[in-house]
Amino acid sequence: MTGTGRAADSRATDNRSRPDRQDRTARGIMELVAPAGTPAALRTAIAAGADVVYCGFRDATNARNFPGLNFSRDELAAGIAHAHARGAGVYLACNTYPQAGREHLWRQAVDDAASLGVDAVILADIGLLGHARDRHPDLRLHLSVQASASNEDAIAFYQRHFGVRRVVLPRVLSLADIAALNHRITVETEVFAFGGMCVMAEGRCALSSYVTGESPNTTGACSPAAHIRYQPDGDATLARLGAVTVDRFAPGEPVGYPTLCKGRFTPRGATPGTASGPRRDGVYLFEDPVSLNVEAMLPELAAAGVRAIKIEGRQRGRAYVEAVVAAFRRALDQAGRDEPATAGTLAAMSEGGSGTAGAYRRGWQ
Ligand code: SF4
Repeated sequence: MTGTGRAADSRATDNRSRPDRQDRTARGIMELVAPAGTPAALRTAIAAGADVVYCGFRDATNARNFPGLNFSRDELAAGIAHAHARGAGVYLACNTYPQAGREHLWRQAVDDAASLGVDAVILADIGLLGHARDRHPDLRLHLSVQASASNEDAIAFYQRHFGVRRVVLPRVLSLADIAALNHRITVETEVFAFGGMCVMAEGRCALSSYVTGESPNTTGACSPAAHIRYQPDGDATLARLGAVTVDRFAPGEPVGYPTLCKGRFTPRGATPGTASGPRRDGVYLFEDPVSLNVEAMLPELAAAGVRAIKIEGRQRGRAYVEAVVAAFRRALDQAGRDEPATAGTLAAMSEGGSGTAGAYRRGWQ
């Protein structure tokens, strides 16, 4: 067992003596929803203080379908038992769009999740929502961010037709938008709190498809690992996705995982290397590699009526999950007190070493 594992397991015991999520709900504390890419990450997240973990089956039914990740049916059953014994919950993400002729795979995922006793399924497709509504009327339905429902009418549609109880809001809304929305709707809202940013209409990004033929929409994976190559270029390192060079890292520069939205490119027509033009190694044309971080905004999010905050990153390792979940557990439990809760932990875990409040703080419409 690793040192991290021992620490997590000892905290698992401590966790049982902490107030469970019903108690925290009664105290008005927002629910902390953590990623679990593996059964080990599930146990780590709960030990670190997650109220709920979200995970997916090991197939194309979830948007993080990477090799080595996700759960078999037996693993999910064990994970649910582990979580429930500690007062925590498990949400099952079945949030990709069923492909023609293969719909049975997605319907079976919903059926299995229901029979295994998940606390909610996270869905985006209206056909699948209809299936869940008809076959499992007692199953709690959450609307995935993949559905991109960001206004009162859209959310009311999903509530009226499918009985959706919670909506995960797209990361394009400001704090003022969220507060106004929560005044007009009666379903719960969940917002992203920490982790990587997607720049497209949430999970409907097709960038990866152009280069690899695979994307979150089709196989559940953006920038699939089988298409990634790192190769030396003099003293530098090229990060390539298929036939495309996505980034060039200078000697000593941390080498990141290449996704097209966060690659550095030289725009057509620009003159590389000039003072006014892009740097020779390109610029971030779509999005900088930064992490969303709402730690400083937790009281405002709670005041805006947000019910739950979500940490991105089912593809992250246990050490990351443990550090980020523990930091947010402290931050939520200490909200309103003067002392800093996380002592720089979250800044150190940020992608690219820097954080952003994203659209939550934007002043423009
Ligand atoms: S390419 Fe970027 S925006 Fe598109 S799915 Fe991947 S991470 Fe998200």
